[in-house]
Amino acid sequence: MALFEKLGDTILNVGKDVSQKVKDVSGITKLRIDIRAKEDFINKQYMELGKACYERRQSETEEEEAIFERIDEAVSEIHKMELQILELKGTKKCPSCGAEVSDLAEYCSVCGEKISVVVSDSPYEETPSEEAEEQETT
Ligand SMILES: [Zn+2]
Repeated sequence: MALFEKLGDTILNVGKDVSQKVKDVSGITKLRIDIRAKEDFINKQYMELGKACYERRQSETEEEEAIFERIDEAVSEIHKMELQILELKGTKKCPSCGAEVSDLAEYCSVCGEKISVVVSDSPYEETPSEEAEEQETT
């Protein structure tokens, strides 16, 4: 019964000492924040690891391959959305150096590359429209 008595005492003491309790609570809150921060850090490391793996393009399993494909898809979608932003802003991206140039510009102001066509299809797209490809080569 010694343990039970001790436990009872502890509960009683915590109840008595309110300031200590507040201190404990804020201590716990701080620890939880620290834990969250560490978890975020770990997640970032996981991401770095995954990114390194993706960039090496070495999938060990089908699951990883599926993840690579999902990333490809998302990257392609982001690329499209970025192009949409450029279109809305009235600018386009230089196909040579990637600089933002006016939609009306014929030549890139950064590298001097001739820009006659707005590239609306993502280079990541697996099925590029033939029309766009023809326009690009002319
Ligand atoms: Zn350029």
